[in-house]
Formats: sequence, C-alpha cells, structure tokens
Amino acid sequence: MGIENHSKQFAGATPRADGKTNLVGLTREELESCLTAAGLEKFRARQVWHWIYYRGVTDFAAMTTLAKPAREKLAESFVVDRPSAVKDLKSTDGTRKWLCRMPDGQEVETVHIPEEDRGTLCVSSQVGCTLTCRFCHTGTQRLVRNLTADEIVGQVMLARDHLGEWPSPPDGRMLSNIVMMGMGEPLYNYENVARALKITMDGEGIAISKRRITLSTSGVVPLMKRCGEELGVNLAVSLHAVNDELRDRIVPINRKYPIKELMEAVRNYPGLSNARRVTWEYVMLKGVNDSMADARELVRLLRGIPSKVNLIPFNPWPGAPFECSDWGQIQKFADFVNNAGYASPIRTPRGSDILAACGQLKSESQRPTAAQKSAQLETHKALAAEYAARVAEKEAVLGI
Ligand code: SAH
Ligand code: SF4
Repeated sequence: MGIENHSKQFAGATPRADGKTNLVGLTREELESCLTAAGLEKFRARQVWHWIYYRGVTDFAAMTTLAKPAREKLAESFVVDRPSAVKDLKSTDGTRKWLCRMPDGQEVETVHIPEEDRGTLCVSSQVGCTLTCRFCHTGTQRLVRNLTADEIVGQVMLARDHLGEWPSPPDGRMLSNIVMMGMGEPLYNYENVARALKITMDGEGIAISKRRITLSTSGVVPLMKRCGEELGVNLAVSLHAVNDELRDRIVPINRKYPIKELMEAVRNYPGLSNARRVTWEYVMLKGVNDSMADARELVRLLRGIPSKVNLIPFNPWPGAPFECSDWGQIQKFADFVNNAGYASPIRTPRGSDILAACGQLKSESQRPTAAQKSAQLETHKALAAEYAARVAEKEAVLGI
C-alpha cells in the first residue's frame, strides 16, 4: 500500500517514506480506526495506548496483552516511532540537550533542565521559527516547517527514553514539567501543539498535568483564548519591551498585535488567577530595554493582571546585535518590579556551554564553524548582514 493510501485511510497520521503509519500522535479515536483496520477490536486501543504512552514500548512484540497474531498484524502496517537523538550533550550543570532528527532529516533541539525538586523539558514546536525576534538565534533561521504532533510528543518520549522514565512514574519524576519554549512559535502551529499536549496530559499515559505545562508565545493574540479554553495550560508571554515603538522593532509580531491588544488578551486568558499567574518573559538587553523608566512602565502595564516576571539575561550568539545588561542593572530592575508586588526571578542561564540556553537553539548544521569563529569581527558583520536579509525575507512573507 502506498503512502497516499495510508495517509488517506488514517486521518491524523503523518505520511512516511516506508508506507507505514506511526501510531504516535494519533488521538484515541484515530488509534481505534487503525486497530480496527488491522482486524483488532476497538477496545484494544486502550491497551495499545497504555503500551505506547505509559510503558514507552516501541516494539509490538512487547505488547503482551495482545495475541501474537494481532501483534504481527500491527507490525505489518504500523510503527511506534519517535525522532532519533543524533546528539546527546550534557552540560556541566546537568542540563541535557538532544538534537532530534525527524524522518525527513530536519532537526530540532530539546533541552532537559534538572532542578532540585523537578525537571523541566523545553520542547520545540517548529523547525526554525515563523517569527523574527531580533535577539533570538532561532528567529534568524530561514527554514521553517511546523512539527507534526508525533514529532512534538515524540520529543517528550525521546527524553523519557534517555532519562529511563518508563513506565510513567507517579512521583519524583526527572521529567515533571514541560515548557513549550524551544524552537518555534507554538501558536503558529496550534493544531499540532494542541494534539501533542492533549496526548501528553492524558492520565493513562505520560500523564503530565496541565498545571505543569507552560506554553510561551511571542503574542499571537487571536489564538490565546482558544489555547486557554482547550488546553488550560499555563501561559507565558514574551514581552521584552514596554512600548510599541521598541517592541515593533525587536518583537516584530507586535506590528500585527500591539501591546494594548496583547494586554487585553492576557487579561482575558481563561483560568488566570492569583494562584495561576501569567509569566512575562523579559530579555535584558543592555541600553535597549533595561532602564528604570522601562521597569516603571512595565509595572504600570501589569497593573491588575495576576503576573510574575521572568527576567532573562540575554544569551549572546555569533552575529547578535545586542549585549546582555550589566548584572547590577538586572538586579536593580528586578528589585523594582519585585517591590511593586510582582515576583521577578532572574532566570539563571542553564546549559550555555552546550548552547542550550534560551534563544541559543538552532540546528547544528547552520552554526558557524570553528574557522568562521576565528575571524570574529568580520564573521560577526557577515552573519549580521546575512541574518538581516533572512529576516527581511521572512517578514515580507508574514506581511509585517
Ligand atoms: N516562540 C516562543 C517560545 C520560544 S522562545 C516565544 O517567543 O515566546 C523562549 C524564550 O526565550 C522567549 O521568551 C524568547 O523571547 C527568549 N529568548 C529568545 N532569544 C533569547 C536570547 N538570545 N537570550 C535570552 N532569551 C531569549
Ligand atoms: Fe520565534 Fe520565540 Fe525566537 Fe521570537 S523569540 S523568533 S517567536 S522562537
């Protein structure tokens, strides 16, 4: 049977070169259709779901609650697949970064950040990013493609494989939290992200609760309400500037959805309360957005919105047009926001020795080589020009 036939027959599945259908990423109903097509009873879907998402099994032969002929039948047409980890880097601080290769050869990065009482997985939603924030390495990458649902939930499964966390442990997990803060703008790939997160939250599988999942957006206003209603996950918003003039420049989606509209959308985010605050992300750029006047304006903007502020020291990358604010200034900024009543932790950069920190994610194949690094200044200029051209190209497509 050809790929076309398969993708037509099994709604929700991603076509594969081997003509088989990956069961990962399908809804329960879609999984039922696949199983009935292979001659299994509908109710078997629950057992298969359990094997895939609770036990982490990838081989049908291990699904011992199914009869042997049924397992063989499944293996003829289906696979249980995830991206392959072509690199597994470990930082001196324990942070891990996997370079995940998709079946078509595209790559994204997934980062695990262990903490004392939990572990957070930073998941990517796109290869590259639709948007072009000026301080973000991912934004300069030209190639953009949405990840499919199986490629998104597959990152969680791959991390679990490497952390040895199958079957899903009830407590004390190394992978307890998820942030959609890797490469890409998750709300520009909403359908696939929603599908993947619903699977991740399902109580009979990976079972990570919505309270432990945070979706970060640069401000795709029209989809925020739906995200809150359908998924109920925590919201983080990349603000980074307190006036439209600056935000238009450094977070260009602001030209489409300016600060006033963004604030209104956040104010109305379903489920927002003092117990469930929005997280504002604010990257500290020296001499650009880090003055005390900016801090004052920030506090004014947040008035009445249950908020916390995450101050992110800018992580440099080759060719970046910014510097990180001085430590003392970040501290002063944080103190001011904190005194105004908003928790404002400074995010400690994690895994920067393996380029795993915020905004440093970018597929290995496009990173400058050692030879380029040695000609630093020239390279910097050349890269900056190259990035500017790519950004202009992307913004023309976006119409912003
Ligand atoms: N696209 C989404 C989520 C991914 S980016 C978004 O923009 O919200 C995750 C966070 O890292 C965002 O707040 C982003 O603005 C921030 N970030 C990007 N580049 C950065 C850099 N070089 N240094 C520090 N933070 C950066
Ligand atoms: Fe995309 Fe987020 Fe980077 Fe902006 S900060 S370019 S939205 S990944």
